[in-house]
Amino acid sequence: MTVTLLGAAEIRALAADLDVTPTKKLGQNFVVDANTVRKIVHVARVSAADRVVEIGPGLGSLTLAILETGAPVTAVEIDHRLAERLPATAAAHGVPAEALTVVDADALRVTELPGAPNVLVANLPYNVSVPVLLHFLETFEGLERGVVMVQAEVGERLAAGPGSKIYGAPSVKAAWYGAWRLAGTVSRQVFWPVPNVDSVLVAFERDAVPRGTDAQRRAVFQIVDAAFGQRRKMLRQSLSEVLGGSSAVASELLTAAGVDPTTRAEQLTIDDFARIAAARG
Ligand code: SAM
Repeated sequence: MTVTLLGAAEIRALAADLDVTPTKKLGQNFVVDANTVRKIVHVARVSAADRVVEIGPGLGSLTLAILETGAPVTAVEIDHRLAERLPATAAAHGVPAEALTVVDADALRVTELPGAPNVLVANLPYNVSVPVLLHFLETFEGLERGVVMVQAEVGERLAAGPGSKIYGAPSVKAAWYGAWRLAGTVSRQVFWPVPNVDSVLVAFERDAVPRGTDAQRRAVFQIVDAAFGQRRKMLRQSLSEVLGGSSAVASELLTAAGVDPTTRAEQLTIDDFARIAAARG
C-alpha cells in the first residue's frame, strides 16, 4: 500500500470544494506541511501493529500520515462536511477502505470507539484540548500512549511538575493517568490559517498499573479542583469544605496523609492528592 500525503494547494482546494471556511469556534487550523505531520507520527512511534484514534481529522493531512504507517485509524470529527469527505480523500490517496473508520461526532461525547485503539494522535481543537484529552483517557482505557499538538501554554501546563506557576489542575489530572513530556515545538507557519498562538507536541504514556478505580479518581479530582480553585490559600483553608467542613478537621486529615496543612496546592504531587483522598475515605 502506498499512501500519498496532502499538499498545501490540495488542502485549500478541498476546503473550497466543501465550502469550508476554517472557524475559530471549532479550532480549525489545518496543517499544510507534510514534514510536520510525519514528525508527529514519528514522535508517536506509530507502526503497522498499532491501532490509532485521531480526534479532529479535518481535511485529513495528519490522518494520511498515520495511515502511511499501515496502522488503521478511527477518526472522530464533529464537522459533518469534513467527516463525510474524509473516506473519499483517503481512497484517492491510496488508503484501502477498511483502514479508516470515520466517526461523525463530538469527541467530548463519544463513549464507544470502533477499532479498539491503543494510540491517540491528534492536532487537537485548541478550545477543548484538555477536556477532550481527559475524556479520552477516562473513557478509553485501551489507550496506552499518544502524541497531541496543543497550544504551547496548554502543553507546558500538562507536562508541568509541582512547584511552578503553570502547574495546575490539568497537570495533576493528566498525571493521574501516566507520564507526560513536551516533545517539540511547531511553527505557526505550518497551519492554514496561521494561528495567533504557538503550538507544541505533548507525548504521554499511560501507567501500566492504573492508580485507582473510577470512584477513587473522582474523589481525587474533587480535591484537586478544590485545592486549585483557591490556589493561593493554604491547603487547610482551600480544602476545609471537602475535608470535613472546618480547617481544623482538614488539618488533621492532611497531617494523617503526610501533607503539611500550611502548604499550597501547587506544591503537591498526584501521590499527595491520592493520599489525601484516601485519608478522607
Ligand atoms: N487534524 C487536522 C489537521 O491537522 O490539519 C485538523 C486539526 S484542527 C486543529 C481541529 C479539528 O478538530 C477540526 O477539523 C475541527 O473540525 C475538529 N473538532 C473541533 N471540535 C471537535 C470536537 N469536539 N470533536 C471532534 N472534532 C472536533
